[in-house]
Amino acid sequence: MTTPDFSIEFFPPKTPEGADKLRATRARLAVLDPKYFSVTFGAGGSTQQGTLDTVLDIRSEGHEAAPHISCLGSSRARLRDILTEYRDHGIRRLVALRGDLPSGYGAVDFSSGEFRYANELVEFIRAESGDWFHIEVAAYPEMHPQAKSPQDDMQSFARKVQAGANAAITQYFYNADAYFRFVDEAHRHGVQVPIVAGVMPITNYMQLMRFSEMCGAEIPRWVRLKLASFGDDSDSIRAFGLDVVTTMCERLLAGGAPGLHFYSLNQSGPTIAICERLKATGA
Ligand code: FAD
Repeated sequence: MTTPDFSIEFFPPKTPEGADKLRATRARLAVLDPKYFSVTFGAGGSTQQGTLDTVLDIRSEGHEAAPHISCLGSSRARLRDILTEYRDHGIRRLVALRGDLPSGYGAVDFSSGEFRYANELVEFIRAESGDWFHIEVAAYPEMHPQAKSPQDDMQSFARKVQAGANAAITQYFYNADAYFRFVDEAHRHGVQVPIVAGVMPITNYMQLMRFSEMCGAEIPRWVRLKLASFGDDSDSIRAFGLDVVTTMCERLLAGGAPGLHFYSLNQSGPTIAICERLKATGA
């Protein structure tokens, strides 16, 4: 069995103090020797400079870094400038997404604009930059919330890969079977690229419910009820969350997941705790 890849995601800090805090977080996470750190790109490009600054910071520390890039609400000219800037900095890896516009932008008219879907962004990056970038795209084992059906969503996913993606990272989930079925079906659609499992550590019940509502990730009833029963007892929430998520990661890796991508929310503790447990159990 090949060693699974670990990668860790951050969002760009908004203040110099936040950047210092994130540097300290990264120093702690570096002991896990992740393959790369990725940095999100705010809706509509709202964090463009913060994304680049954080990526350059990470690279100056000697780690590989991948900026996310999203296309909704952006023009070809603007994305061309971003790609040129990334190339000039020697950045070789991207996470390419459609993105979501911030709520203040009103209803999104998907029929207008220069980009509508992520497959168009992947095509554009390949047309502009050839094979310079290793491109990761998003995958949704529990279906993207705006998809018409799981079948449609799978076709959209396959289209992104056909457009030139090298690998995929999933939305987080707490049901390993959803992941395994998705991977099997992707294979049947001719998708051969690695599909890395996205992992959201459980540390805060209300925050998890809010995120999951937005992104369409299902919290299994038994997990939800148990978390709710702990009330404000955050130690119990963290301990239970650690058990649930580590057990799922063990299953994912044992079942052939090529890697894990941690949504760190700029925290080091939960990701380190999961990885240490995985190591201790030989996963
Ligand atoms: P797409 O692949 O374009 O899919 C979007 C929807 O359109 C799906 O429902 C799909 O089924 C449907 N669709 C696709 N193609 C077609 C077509 N041709 N015709 C009809 N329907 C179609 N968001 C950010 O803003 N910044 C980030 O940094 C960021 N990072 C992320 C990282 C990961 C690993 C993941 C999983 C998500 C991330 N997101 C980020 C969220 C992401 O932008 C949203 O989930 C967004 O709603 C969809 O992006 P996508 O790239 O999957 O879009």
